[in-house]
Amino acid sequence: MSVLVVGSVAYDTLETPAGRAEKILGGSASYFALAASYFTDVNMVGVVGDDFGPEQMSAFEGRRINLEGLEHAPGKTFHWQGKYSTDLNSRETICTDLNVFEHFKPKLPESYRKSDRLFLGNIEPSLQRDVLEQVDAPQLVGCDTMNLWINHRLEELKKTLAKVEVLLINDSEARELAGDWNVIRAARKIRAMGPKTLIIKKGEHGALLFQEDSCFLASAFPLEHVKDPTGAGDSFAGGLMGYLDQSGSHDEATFRQAVIMGSTVASFCCEDFGVERLLTLKQDEIHERFHEFASMVHFDRLPLK
Ligand code: AMP
Repeated sequence: MSVLVVGSVAYDTLETPAGRAEKILGGSASYFALAASYFTDVNMVGVVGDDFGPEQMSAFEGRRINLEGLEHAPGKTFHWQGKYSTDLNSRETICTDLNVFEHFKPKLPESYRKSDRLFLGNIEPSLQRDVLEQVDAPQLVGCDTMNLWINHRLEELKKTLAKVEVLLINDSEARELAGDWNVIRAARKIRAMGPKTLIIKKGEHGALLFQEDSCFLASAFPLEHVKDPTGAGDSFAGGLMGYLDQSGSHDEATFRQAVIMGSTVASFCCEDFGVERLLTLKQDEIHERFHEFASMVHFDRLPLK
């Protein structure tokens, strides 16, 4: 079992009400890979610059993360800077320096082509398809995107969506993509574009899972202290895809468990800056919180007349 992820590996500069962090390890592929590696083997695809040394690489080492597909290119590593509002529910991008990411052409090592599941992290949609085409016969393809591509590469994005089974997207992006302010109608329209399974993330308010005629409402795990929500979406995706890969099943019940597992891992991510908490996390802590989560969302139905 293995999951392949393609996405950004970054230096992030972050400002949240809890403080500021300068040029720390981030990027969608980093968060995803660290999260998913608690469940399965991860084949990572991305690019870093020559300012990304052994110290940064060590975050991924000693884990179930294959780094053969992490390219080292001359130049600087992608840098993103973001600032959060006081309630942490919105953030402003201060700068995006693409650097080596600008000319990134993902080329998969031979050993990655047999990956069982695929996660196309937030990169330009035609690059997402390039990666998809290099994998032999993935059993499940998940995908993320953002408003940048919805606004500037819509036709390319639609071609990618036609080829993926699972789309993870936040609620404002879903509204934009569908051109409909109502999330339920937006979900129907997006599913008609290709992804049979749609997960709409609503930050601290949880996530909605749409499949065929069913909808599953998952709350987010209530946290008393949130330091930095950066990467919560990618950690959610890593927990979800990792859990699905470990389970080897894609039925509705497993998807619902996977959404709760994604929310569980994402909650840990928010407890500290950057990937810090994902580096120290223990399996026992994940299991304990998953079970606590299950008991929080459980209720006994009264016999209805
Ligand atoms: P999330 O908080 O889950 O949306 O993910 C945040 C991560 O996305 C940060 O670590 C950034 O480095 C990365 N990121 C931000 N903008 C972009 C972009 N345009 N392309 C790729 N990755 C990005």
